[in-house]
Amino acid sequence: MNLLYKSTRSDDTLVTASQAILKGLAEDGGLFVPTVIPTLDVNMDELSKMTYQEVAYEVMKLFFTDFTEEELKNCIHKAYDEKFDTEEIAPLAKAEGAYYLELFHGATIAFKDMALSILPHLLTTSAKKNNAKNDIVILTATSGDTGKAALAGFADVEGTKIIVFYPKDGVSPIQEKQMVTQKGDNTYVIGIKGNFDDAQSGVKAMFNNKELAAKMDKGGYQFSSANSINIGRLVPQIVYYVYAYSRLYKNGEIAKNELINIVVPTGNFGNILAAYYAKNMGVPVNKLICASNDNKVLFDFFSTGTYDRNRDFILTSSPSMDILISSNLERLIYRITGSDASKTKELMDSLSNKGNYEVTVKMRDQLKDFEGGYASEGDTADIIKKIYEDTGYVIDTHTAVAASVYEQYKEAAKDSSKAVIASTASPYKFARSVMNSIDMKYDSLSDFELIDELSKISNTDIPKAIEEIRTAPVLHDKVCDAADMQSTVEDILKL
Ligand SMILES: *Cc1c(COP(=O)(O)O)cnc(C)c1O
Repeated sequence: MNLLYKSTRSDDTLVTASQAILKGLAEDGGLFVPTVIPTLDVNMDELSKMTYQEVAYEVMKLFFTDFTEEELKNCIHKAYDEKFDTEEIAPLAKAEGAYYLELFHGATIAFKDMALSILPHLLTTSAKKNNAKNDIVILTATSGDTGKAALAGFADVEGTKIIVFYPKDGVSPIQEKQMVTQKGDNTYVIGIKGNFDDAQSGVKAMFNNKELAAKMDKGGYQFSSANSINIGRLVPQIVYYVYAYSRLYKNGEIAKNELINIVVPTGNFGNILAAYYAKNMGVPVNKLICASNDNKVLFDFFSTGTYDRNRDFILTSSPSMDILISSNLERLIYRITGSDASKTKELMDSLSNKGNYEVTVKMRDQLKDFEGGYASEGDTADIIKKIYEDTGYVIDTHTAVAASVYEQYKEAAKDSSKAVIASTASPYKFARSVMNSIDMKYDSLSDFELIDELSKISNTDIPKAIEEIRTAPVLHDKVCDAADMQSTVEDILKL
């Protein structure tokens, strides 16, 4: 069967999977969604015998139907290889009555690696399939994590270049070091004198510049985006929920068809949407628990039916979830309207014009799969300390938001279903907040002393991603004014 994709905001265009991956965003500003969510065509007994890569193929073949078996397997094998420090790719750790699905064993020790290690291969394959003759230039503005994960994913991928702009004084020392030590002949990292918004506006302006596009075309290049709304990032994230269920079943932790809960620390709503797609594909899931930090716009949405971004932006210890516009929520909204593109467009227009929208009672009825919750900074620190003291297991601040919300949910709902908690970053990535949660005495240590101490108390090896940057040489030292971003890109591409 050939599965096609359409926009959430109009009904007139149908595209193939590879076209949707290449385009990223639909021309009307909507997101691409599959016209139907396919059902798994292998059962749990079969899945439980498969490797991560084999499960990945079973899921992706149903969504990327215009890829040949060989193309898809090739992408999967290039992505999920020795870059991950465990053959399981996404292992489960049992602690304090829950199963932590560790999504941080890739190159940059955060869950963005799960999708960004395969996206470059899906993109280059899609370009070939559609006879795009140009090399792909990935242009990204980053506040830290996405930039490094995209750099690692695209480094030395033939037919691509990646250019990352970051605010010179607006990322953590570890994040900066991770980026400026990036290897690969096709990687470019530039600090700008400005903040993240300046970087993001500069990138957007280049994407929308028709003159630049023509110049690029002449030079043999075209821009593309590694943004989290690309369907090529969403689908690979479904895989690990199917895989996690199959491992629980294989290891006798759950009975056949037993319903489980899934708890996800949420920002842009991509990761939890993937869990929802997994449920719709036939994975036995009871509740999808959406965990927010103090930026609890989603909690308010699930409890009131109104989405309202008109509020202060709060900086927290889980920065990758500091978001007021959860872009991927649009795909869920589209579904609960009963696939009504004009209604979805109306709500999204209201969001961009007034900063809010309200869904109807009928739409709210369709949100019963979800449960919203949030954790304050204090709750987050407390649960890190508690789980460490009870079990010796150390979780990062993002995962801790989910763990705290799960505790609250269990208590309130008296629901004792088994739960998988998406563990989205290694504690080493946020070592200072994590260690301070356990004991403020650590605050006097330097960044690398903290890392050594974390290794000792958690009895885990320091990940290669961290070990490497201790001594890695700086390979990128370019800095430019925000106003000169375009000329910097033109220099790099020799336009
Ligand atoms: C990006 C990110 C999240 C949020 O995921 P979404 O898909 O944007 O909801 C949570 N935790 C970490 C560590 C992240 O990097």
